[in-house]
Amino acid sequence: MLRLERLPLDAVSDGFLEFCRAMPELAPSLVMEAARAASGAAAQVRLDLLRALLTGGDVGPTATALGCPPAPLVFLARGYLSPVAEQLAAVGPALSPEDRQPMCPRCGWPPQVSKLQDEPGAEGNRRLVCAFCATDWMFPRSVCVACGVSGDDGLEFHVDEGLSHVRVESCRSCRSYLKSVDLRAVGLAEPLVDDLATPELDLWATDRGFEKTVPNLLGL
Ligand SMILES: [Zn+2]
Ligand SMILES: [Zn+2]
Repeated sequence: MLRLERLPLDAVSDGFLEFCRAMPELAPSLVMEAARAASGAAAQVRLDLLRALLTGGDVGPTATALGCPPAPLVFLARGYLSPVAEQLAAVGPALSPEDRQPMCPRCGWPPQVSKLQDEPGAEGNRRLVCAFCATDWMFPRSVCVACGVSGDDGLEFHVDEGLSHVRVESCRSCRSYLKSVDLRAVGLAEPLVDDLATPELDLWATDRGFEKTVPNLLGL
């Protein structure tokens, strides 16, 4: 695990203040308002927000204290902390191939997206990519990440015309979904970016009552 909760949060929180102050005026208005509220608040409030994100705690009280909705606050804190988590993950020990679990084996966050790729000795391996630290790890192809069901009650797949390398993996049992990026079709695809760049697939899924395992940085 990354031991993110051991980060020197006081020092990290100073950087978060700068991050919020530097939010460009072009940002969506909800994000701008959250950045203004967070930079104008007491240091303890920013600390509480970062700690909640790192420990899976409730952001609600901070949102109430700042008078803005939780989603843009989570967006800010994730945007600031994810590069730190990615750096920590990059220097961490290698993962065991047996680490086939639905949550990130490094930081415990859920996956943002899955990807399919050929690997030595195995074609079309499915890997999940962490929503927080971008670690990827192996996971069985036909198993729902959210509820563990496979077979006829498990995943079905939807592809949009013109977007053949990104598909929706939705679960018949728990109504959750995740996007999957096929790196065999587009070798240089970047799964986390492809997830952000295909909001039409999120619309397709949410219109049918599916809920994403975890929203991406755009809240989709
Ligand atoms: Zn992670
Ligand atoms: Zn499921």
